[in-house]
Amino acid sequence: MKRSAWTVAIALALSLGWAPRLVAEPEPIPVIDLHVDLPYQNGYKGASFSEGSGQFRARELLRAGVVGVVLPLFVPKDTKPSGRTKAELLSSYFRTFTELGRTPPYQMPGCVARPFAVETWLSFEGAEPIEPEELEIQSWVLRGVRVFGMIHTEANTFGGSSGTGQGNRGLSARGARFAELVFRAGGIIDVSHTSDRTTDDLIGLAREHGGRIIATHSNARALAPHPRNLTDAQLRAIGELGGVIGVNFHGRFLEPKSGEGSLDDVVRQIRHIARVAGPQAVAIGSDFEGGIRPPAALKTELGYQTLARRLETEGVPRAQVVSYLSGNARRVLCPEKAQLPSSRN
Ligand SMILES: [Zn+2]
Repeated sequence: MKRSAWTVAIALALSLGWAPRLVAEPEPIPVIDLHVDLPYQNGYKGASFSEGSGQFRARELLRAGVVGVVLPLFVPKDTKPSGRTKAELLSSYFRTFTELGRTPPYQMPGCVARPFAVETWLSFEGAEPIEPEELEIQSWVLRGVRVFGMIHTEANTFGGSSGTGQGNRGLSARGARFAELVFRAGGIIDVSHTSDRTTDDLIGLAREHGGRIIATHSNARALAPHPRNLTDAQLRAIGELGGVIGVNFHGRFLEPKSGEGSLDDVVRQIRHIARVAGPQAVAIGSDFEGGIRPPAALKTELGYQTLARRLETEGVPRAQVVSYLSGNARRVLCPEKAQLPSSRN
């Protein structure tokens, strides 16, 4: 009788898929990715939220160690003849919010770490339709937008882009007003697509106002000379301001000549950013689901643990690998003293 009870229990465990976890798999290193374009794949490319294009699949996230992700509410510029509109940003928000609510293991946006779940935060990648008005920006922060990328691949009324052939425009008065209000509302400014001058202007503003700056998905230009990547001076400044740089897996930003990046290139980027900006400034911003060509070893979410193992093999202590892959990102996304915007009655 006893034996058959065990048999049933084991059969049940196997059928529920518990056995592999019980047997061998080591505890994965926790991962927070600062830039995964799932809302874009889901909203504009006809992909399901749970599968995307196959690079960031909901059903693999826990096995891949993913504990958090920043999802950009990105609207392609040619969606409407009039360009990006606030209505499009809102509908991207509603779609994403709905999908998060019905797609485990995702949580609704915000800082509430739970076991066997994935924390989420929203971001903008091109925020031009949003007016630099206090209530407007506060309302987006309350909706779960933590990271504000003001500019995408073309210059706009906020300032210059790193997109080629546009000169090196700085931040406009409208852009400066917007960034100040983001800082005041507890948001973070993202410099991943801004021109050098605009990046430097935003760094200056953050210094002046005590604001937070990150680059969600950019690499070091010293290793990979591409305008989308950051100079050592910019990396250093972001590190000094307490921000992070999310290392991007796209081949073009790892190896601009061939467009073929490797796992080694990603490791070199991590080591360089740690040396220049400080180990507290390293994070991951894969750019998965954004039409990227990642290294063969990092072609899906399961590659995060391959990267973690490689870093450990090269002598990076496990605690440091955890900081690189999630700890630093979470420190910036969920500062201890994070507060709701103040109400002034
Ligand atoms: Zn991008």
